[in-house]
Amino acid sequence: MTNVSVAPAAPILPDVLSLPRKAQPVDGRVNLVGLTRTELAEALRAAGTPDKQVRMRVGQIWQWVYHWGVRDFAAMTNLGKDYRDLLARTFVIALPEIVQKQVSADGTRKYLLRIAGGHEVETVYIPEENRGTLCISSQVGCTLTCSFCHTGTQKLVRNLTAGEIVGQVMLARDDLKDWPQPGVPKDETRLVSNVVLMGMGEPLYNFDAVRDAMGIVMDGEGIALGRRRITLSTSGVVPEIARCATEIGCQLAISFHATTDAVRDRLVPINKRWNIETLLNTLRDYPRLSNSERITFEYVMLKGVNDTDEDARRLVKLIRGIPAKINLIPFNEWPGSPYERSDWDRIEGFADIIYKAGYASPIRTPRGEDIMAACGQLKSASERERRVRKVPVGEGAAGEGPTGEGPAAG
Ligand code: SAH
Ligand code: SF4
Repeated sequence: MTNVSVAPAAPILPDVLSLPRKAQPVDGRVNLVGLTRTELAEALRAAGTPDKQVRMRVGQIWQWVYHWGVRDFAAMTNLGKDYRDLLARTFVIALPEIVQKQVSADGTRKYLLRIAGGHEVETVYIPEENRGTLCISSQVGCTLTCSFCHTGTQKLVRNLTAGEIVGQVMLARDDLKDWPQPGVPKDETRLVSNVVLMGMGEPLYNFDAVRDAMGIVMDGEGIALGRRRITLSTSGVVPEIARCATEIGCQLAISFHATTDAVRDRLVPINKRWNIETLLNTLRDYPRLSNSERITFEYVMLKGVNDTDEDARRLVKLIRGIPAKINLIPFNEWPGSPYERSDWDRIEGFADIIYKAGYASPIRTPRGEDIMAACGQLKSASERERRVRKVPVGEGAAGEGPTGEGPAAG
């Protein structure tokens, strides 16, 4: 953890420490990052904030932490000195540590982060002409084993906490100097203008933490990214999709990738549990439940596997009736990957059929390939780093984390 200002250790407050599992103590103090407003209120009350003041204090602290990006209680000038001291003795505002930052020739930035337990995850910032997208991780590794995905070759180590998820957004805003400045007129051009849950892990297998973290990111008095600026990508965890609509309400992207169960079983093994038909039936309700416009279907283009004209035609037929856009992703290779990227004219031919059927069919330009930051390439850098730094790969591996949550797909 970084940015922890040193303060005398607080007397351990049993009430505070019995708080949400996610409020991991740092030096005996509780980390406020990642607590919902309700949890923050509980924590402040347990630390001795008079009942009558709790609501106001939550609002003040929330604004310092999530609107201004302040990490030091001493800087919270609208709080009394004694109260600030109490806060500093009891709490910290701590984020994961940036171990390494790489900047690609195309401006993409990849951050290797170390989280509690010494585990590592990656976060990628992708600047574009009129927006900047932050791709964040929700788990260390993944329980699923999609055969084209590099992350899928790394076992689930553990779920990230809500603080570690929202912390990725805060760290990127630190690095990009993207927090508002007091006294400086509000600048509408935010560098981190969109967040996608498309990094390491399956976000719907870490539902509660993802929901709480996105609630914080969307809160209008803090980071305040609208729910249309957040996209959660899932391989198709059917029972959690309706909850995603009603409890998070963000945009949804589905890792679809195939048009027959036989091929999807092979590419996205969770399909054996919830097949194409079951998935599509669930998706039909999503726009209404979440009040969102359309669902993004992600489709990785694998040479000779799922890229024929017939696939394209089957795809548009399958999703008929669902407001959708289809995002074609040229396969990003990784060392030892069992597939090849479809040829460019094949990708264009495929896109053309979809476009003529009335769907937007953007081809996702691979970004940050030179630093292995493109879709599906995450994990590699940290693994390579581990080898160099001789950090044991098995450290804290499966068994420690909540591996039982997801199906052992396949
Ligand atoms: N687990 C979630 C989110 C992370 S993956 C999911 O599967 O949706 C984010 C996107 O990258 C998914 O659509 C995934 O299928 C895609 N992807 C994974 N590996 C890839 C690769 N090697 N090349 C291109 N896209 C890949
Ligand atoms: Fe996990 Fe998504 Fe990769 Fe599949 S594509 S292994 S669900 S991270």
